[in-house]
Amino acid sequence: RFKPELRIPGPVPVPNEVALQMAKPMINHRGAYFKEHYPAVLKRLAPLFGTTNQVHMITGSGTAGMEVAVSNLVSPGTPVLCLVGGFFGNRWADLCKAYGAKMHILEFPWDGGVDPEQVATYLKQHPEIELMFMVQNESSTAVLNDVESVAKARGNHSALLVVDAVSALGGTPCQMDAWGLDVVVSASQKCLMTPPGTAFVVFSPRAREYSDRCTASRYYMDLRRYEQYMEKSETPFTPNIHNVFALEEALSMIEAEGLENVFARHILMRDMMRAGARAVGLELLVKDEDASPTVTGIRFPNADSFRARIKKQYGVEFAGGQGIHANNIFRVGHMGYATPLDVLTALAVLEMDMKKYGQATQAAEQVMEA
Ligand SMILES: *Cc1c(COP(=O)(O)O)cnc(C)c1O
Repeated sequence: RFKPELRIPGPVPVPNEVALQMAKPMINHRGAYFKEHYPAVLKRLAPLFGTTNQVHMITGSGTAGMEVAVSNLVSPGTPVLCLVGGFFGNRWADLCKAYGAKMHILEFPWDGGVDPEQVATYLKQHPEIELMFMVQNESSTAVLNDVESVAKARGNHSALLVVDAVSALGGTPCQMDAWGLDVVVSASQKCLMTPPGTAFVVFSPRAREYSDRCTASRYYMDLRRYEQYMEKSETPFTPNIHNVFALEEALSMIEAEGLENVFARHILMRDMMRAGARAVGLELLVKDEDASPTVTGIRFPNADSFRARIKKQYGVEFAGGQGIHANNIFRVGHMGYATPLDVLTALAVLEMDMKKYGQATQAAEQVMEA
């Protein structure tokens, strides 16, 4: 296609200003320029996490960040509770299993959020649980989980809460410190609108202390190495240097727009997408109160042939369903470098395919005007 259009929940389109950073000359990752820019960009990322703790950068995809969390916390036999309501919740469980955890899994339907009350009840029955894993924005189901309420549901229980915020951070609020989150993980290629290849991990002081007792084998993922090298404003291994440049530019764009405005833009895109889908008679996968601001899941018979059709005809890519939703839904990503205009074009494609001309875009336009 001459002009492809990526409307999937990551990787997302990269703004030209950000992409240009990837063409900068290579530099020494132990040199003065890097030592100045690396810690500075991580400091600018901290407000997005809502933390005063150190943000660490790991070269690897988002899952590498998840593995940093697990490999620095889960010793063989550690009792963990995974809150699973989709594909990425399952990934936490798979990682914990790989590190020999004593598994507890609370399953939630793949079309709704994690229920904090069920979590509270389960924790009361299982005082032995040391770590809890959840996903803030479950990209596979387009659900935004209420992380703050799950954190509160612990009450006096001492379990640490580890959160995958990969498709949430920078698109929806995260208040790590205020909500009492212990580890938060994110990645470059979603709402942060930079190329893939970098994960970000933050540990609370309590989680950091706990990790000192972790006996899991780890080397590349060992947080202590990242801390040691951070003292010299360096990374232990050759990092994805250009993603640092790209992130500086992306953060400048986010800062110029204002974080609150960025969040409001994502809410507006969510509401437009949902109104448009409803207006052409389609069913949304999740209820309004669980709906993600960064991705929308829509039920559609033979969704995969629809996706193939629109890709061929218009050059636009929507994501398919995962797991039980395969071929039954499609997902439209509206995170990061996305505006209401992108939602309107996505809806235009939808209504043209369904021959319901004007109906979806009109409904979305009314949301914009409101
Ligand atoms: C994209 C994503 C990840 C990370 O996937 P990678 O391919 O490893 O970057 C993790 N969790 C969620 C919720 C995601 O959307």
